[in-house]
Amino acid sequence: MIIEFLGTGGATTTPRPGSTTEASRLAREKGTSPWVRSGPGLFLHGPQLVIDTSEDIIHQLNRAKIDYINACFYSHWHPDHTAGKRVFETNIRDYSSKPYKMAPPTDVYLPQQVAIDARRWLAIWESLEYYTHMGVVQVHELTDGDVVTLDDGTGHDVSITPFRLHLDYVYGFEIKTGGKRIVHAADELFGWDPPEALKNPDIAILPAGLFEFNPATGERIMEPNHPLFKEEASFQQTVEMIEKLGATETWVTHIEEAFDMTPEILALAEKRFAAEGKNIRFAYDGLKLPV
Ligand SMILES: [Zn+2]
Repeated sequence: MIIEFLGTGGATTTPRPGSTTEASRLAREKGTSPWVRSGPGLFLHGPQLVIDTSEDIIHQLNRAKIDYINACFYSHWHPDHTAGKRVFETNIRDYSSKPYKMAPPTDVYLPQQVAIDARRWLAIWESLEYYTHMGVVQVHELTDGDVVTLDDGTGHDVSITPFRLHLDYVYGFEIKTGGKRIVHAADELFGWDPPEALKNPDIAILPAGLFEFNPATGERIMEPNHPLFKEEASFQQTVEMIEKLGATETWVTHIEEAFDMTPEILALAEKRFAAEGKNIRFAYDGLKLPV
């Protein structure tokens, strides 16, 4: 199995229209990864599974040469993670084939609270009903504790277990295959205390949170009393969670444009972590991790 980062931006992607940060200026100039960060999303090659569909998903699939999504999990209802749900219309294809053929529907898995929120926010539920009617998705509502097992494409199992974070409308995922264990949370780590059962995975993929300080220089970026600290984890708190979780390797994603984190700053921060014996790296669009 290969894990590919479809997009490593957050609610704000890089470049961000109108932004004059160095990160956005460089991304416009270079036009590619690692400078450009599109909306959050992860793809598992093998089971052909996507976690979250940002509005950038169509371009991400083309870039990654992915021609079919077998299954989709949603971590939570927020628009940066769900706005690209129309992507499943691409299962309508082969207009010229006789008899007319469609790709099989994509299995869309909604963890318990995500299915409740889908009925309340952004017309997610209505959209999925429409796509069900079109025959391009099949929706599965999960109950907390459910484990979904898929084929990894070579006859072996991949199991996916959604679990609630401290902000309990948001789910992380424990993914197991071939004796390896991956823990992924797409966003919203505020207040999370990694439970024992999840500790010491092979790979952790976690959201950056708020860069209160520049991770390379230690220089303060945000005011200490910024109101966002009441509802979002700082990057420093995220690093504490990473240390508690104790993964062999940790990749940080969901990096918001507004913090002006250029690839240069993040490379320096990685060196700083390495010098402290911490295997913490920053993911970039198109990064592939073999599992
Ligand atoms: Zn997000």
